[in-house]
Amino acid sequence: KLYNEVQDLKGNIRVYCRIRPFLQGQSKKHTTIEYVGDDGELIVTNPLKQGKESRRLFKFNKVFSPATTQEEVFVDTRPLIRSVLDGYNVCIFAYGQTGSGKTYTMSGPNVLSKGDWGVNYRAVHDLFQISQSRRNSIYYEVSVQMVEIYNEQVRDLLSTGGSQKRLGIWNTAQPNGLAVPGASMHPVKSMTDVLEFMNIGLMNRATGATALNERSSRSHSVLTVHVRGTDSKTNALLRSSLHLVDLAGSERVDRSEATGERLREAQHINKSLSALGDVISALAQKSSHVPYRNSKLTQLLQSSLGGQAKTLMFVQLNPDVASYSETVSTLKFAERVS
Ligand code: ADP
Ligand code: MG
Repeated sequence: KLYNEVQDLKGNIRVYCRIRPFLQGQSKKHTTIEYVGDDGELIVTNPLKQGKESRRLFKFNKVFSPATTQEEVFVDTRPLIRSVLDGYNVCIFAYGQTGSGKTYTMSGPNVLSKGDWGVNYRAVHDLFQISQSRRNSIYYEVSVQMVEIYNEQVRDLLSTGGSQKRLGIWNTAQPNGLAVPGASMHPVKSMTDVLEFMNIGLMNRATGATALNERSSRSHSVLTVHVRGTDSKTNALLRSSLHLVDLAGSERVDRSEATGERLREAQHINKSLSALGDVISALAQKSSHVPYRNSKLTQLLQSSLGGQAKTLMFVQLNPDVASYSETVSTLKFAERVS
């Protein structure tokens, strides 16, 4: 089954939940996952607590159990990639606490092994394949940008000059406008080109930070794939973009413990994630006012949130009972936007 019809319950917003497996060495005794339904139902419980309060039911477009492979996840993502080549703007992002599998879902644990590829690589690979298959009717050009948002500042992750300058975000209300015109744009012809740029992006993300994991859990990274298609008969032009977003960890930071830089980071993350929640929930409710202006993240993603655009959110869960309260707060975020 190559192309699953993606359920379309709430217009153009889909929410998938993915539960990561217990990692080696982690005890499996205390899972918070009680039930995963084929129809997107999920029941979480706190096995260490009794009572109604510790048992909750949630409903998604889809729930992926811990055994789900990268390939299986992509089967349900794939129709969106086709949409990009049909001219739709698409945004795919992963939300969840640090360690819940956001990077695993978006990028995968190991770039070198194709079977492990996450949504990012599979999506771009698919884009090239489909555009190849359409080459007799449409000529496609693909380019990539990759930026990081850290403390409400936007930084180019692909700049060759090693420039650290802060970039501005432009209003993309006009069609086909670039959200971050200051970020370097790189034409790509093949998967090899893309892999090279994504590696550069990952490396640049690490510089200036103590450790990659440290920093990457507190910044949002956005890979944007721009597509330009020319119809070979009519010369009609089609433009679209695909945003692939690995969000900062959603965990709440203990105010009594965090100070200085750590507290500032936490406040920025909090602000941008709630701005994202506000935007998606406004869209889900078909509200007339969508508050894009409240964070850099929502400004950057504006063209692929709302209107004709299609949005997919992966809600990532760590099944460990120790994460129960974060799990519930992640699920509440998801509930608000679906
Ligand atoms: P996050 O980006 O949310 O902080 P990671 O993607 O780094 O989390 O995942 C945390 C750990 O769990 C990593 O060691 C990762 O390889 C592992 N992991 C996450 N999801 C899965 C999965 N579906 N299958 C196997 N291992 C996973
Ligand atoms: Mg990560």
